Amino acid sequence: MTDDALTADVLVVGSGIAGLAAALAAARAGDEVTLATKATRPEGASSWWAQGGIAVSRDDPEQFKRDIVAASDGTADPDAVGVLVENANEAVEDVLLETLDVEFDQNGSGHDFTREAAHSEDRILHVDASTGKHVHVPFLNYLDGREDVEIRDDTAALELIRHEGRVHGAMLESDGAVEPCFAGSVVLATGGIGDLYPRTTNPENTTGDGVAMAALAGAEVEDMEYVQFHPTACVTEDGGDVAFLVSEAVRGEGGLLRNGEGERFMPDYHADAELAPRDVVARAVKSEREATGEVTLDVSPLDFAAEFPDLAQRCEEHDVDWTEGIPVAPAEHFLCGGVSVDDRGRTTLDRLYAVGECARTGVHGANRLASTSLLEGLVWGLRAGADAAGNDPDPIEAPDLLERDPDLPDRFASDKFHRLTRVMDEYVGVERDPDDLRRAMAVLRRLKGEVDAYVRTRTSRSLYELRNASVTALLVARHAAENDESVGTHNLVSDERDERREQMAD
Ligand SMILES: Cc1cc2nc3c(=O)[nH]c(=O)nc-3n(C[C@H](O)[C@H](O)[C@H](O)COP(=O)(O)OP(=O)(O)OC[C@H]3O[C@@H](n4cnc5c(N)ncnc54)[C@H](O)[C@@H]3O)c2cc1C
Repeated sequence: MTDDALTADVLVVGSGIAGLAAALAAARAGDEVTLATKATRPEGASSWWAQGGIAVSRDDPEQFKRDIVAASDGTADPDAVGVLVENANEAVEDVLLETLDVEFDQNGSGHDFTREAAHSEDRILHVDASTGKHVHVPFLNYLDGREDVEIRDDTAALELIRHEGRVHGAMLESDGAVEPCFAGSVVLATGGIGDLYPRTTNPENTTGDGVAMAALAGAEVEDMEYVQFHPTACVTEDGGDVAFLVSEAVRGEGGLLRNGEGERFMPDYHADAELAPRDVVARAVKSEREATGEVTLDVSPLDFAAEFPDLAQRCEEHDVDWTEGIPVAPAEHFLCGGVSVDDRGRTTLDRLYAVGECARTGVHGANRLASTSLLEGLVWGLRAGADAAGNDPDPIEAPDLLERDPDLPDRFASDKFHRLTRVMDEYVGVERDPDDLRRAMAVLRRLKGEVDAYVRTRTSRSLYELRNASVTALLVARHAAENDESVGTHNLVSDERDERREQMAD
């Protein structure tokens, strides 16, 4: 170890709401914090993209808890749900209102609380339909102005530094150079796994790094099969890329899903038609796209431009003529599982914490209630940051990672990535078949083996992202294969379900 090695009391990895909250709490506790983030712009975090808002507890906290548990198909951990709901208002008031002065939308009598699917009261604070950026940008700016927090952007954590069950820091890469950062505690806040799938609502480079790094270091990981797909992401003309997310609210206001033959199909799938649970709609959209070529969201029943000006503008930006219907497809949206943590974000490894979407707190169980993930990131971020503070860094021998190899063809990573996303889409997507899951595991194992061989000889950020994505993909496939019960977001192909659908159609 060199004398001038980087050190921090707390190293936070990731600059979404969870990482920012952890950094804030650790700094408030008197620690020097280094926050390393791959992002180069605020838009590099899912937190920036959040639309609907952040749920808080209003008149009936017990009902809020019941709603979360019901949305999870009864699988959420009641203790974790209790922590979330009981700390929601204090966290929002302290950080978002008093510290950051976020101006949530108001009506004549105060905050304009809205309601989303499966909430039984109006309890969601929002700013238009673009809440994320109105929270995220002031949060980043606030921490950037603090002397006890150093934000290093365009800096990726590649690997944790671990010795005998304790984490001592992480290897950081910036501009091709790799160096250790030793820390009293490390908080992983690396977000979701969108890039494992060809279509995702997440920003680029969401490769499940935190989950993979923690798993490779020996931390416990749970519930990885519970991947939420959003049913209506607007897709580009060739049906490939996601242009933007079309919020559920559009269906709530009367938008209708039509297949390639112009037929409305959701009543054939569920009594609640377009307002059926997310996973039901996602499966139906997928199946109708396969059968008829495309699915569009018909917005003619509503005054789209007046009711959803942001979305109408986004259509314009992406050359989508919404008067003809918005082309939609399911897209990976949120990971409910992740690195197992307790009520203070502690993982099973000493001095390693995980918060936000990369963590499995138990709040979401097999499925997530809308507008609870910003809140989870905020609440657990604050709790983990406070708990992580107060430990001195203890530098040890760091792993010897090779400097970036300029000769490594960029295509190596992109070709393998393509293979990985195809496998995930085909075999580990919105609906799963046990044989397909086994097939996926075999392909992913081979792919991971090939990538591991490269990582041993060369270092580059894209290669590490690929390694992380292959580790995480394998975890999703393995956990899915081990779970033979369709629950929440984990849906096994079942003749029973097809029979039910046929009966409804008759
Ligand atoms: C389009 C969209 C709409 C949504 N709407 C809502 C909503 O209305 N309400 C709600 O509650 N939730 C919503 N969600 C979900 C919610 O936004 C996310 O779950 C939440 O913001 C995740 O926060 P996070 O801090 O865990 O991760 P993120 O905000 O994704 O941040 C992760 C950070 O980690 C960094 N990072 C990753 N790997 C590394 C690495 N190896 N080294 C360094 N840095 C790394 C990334 O660059 C990024 O800065 C939405 C999500 C999307 C995509």
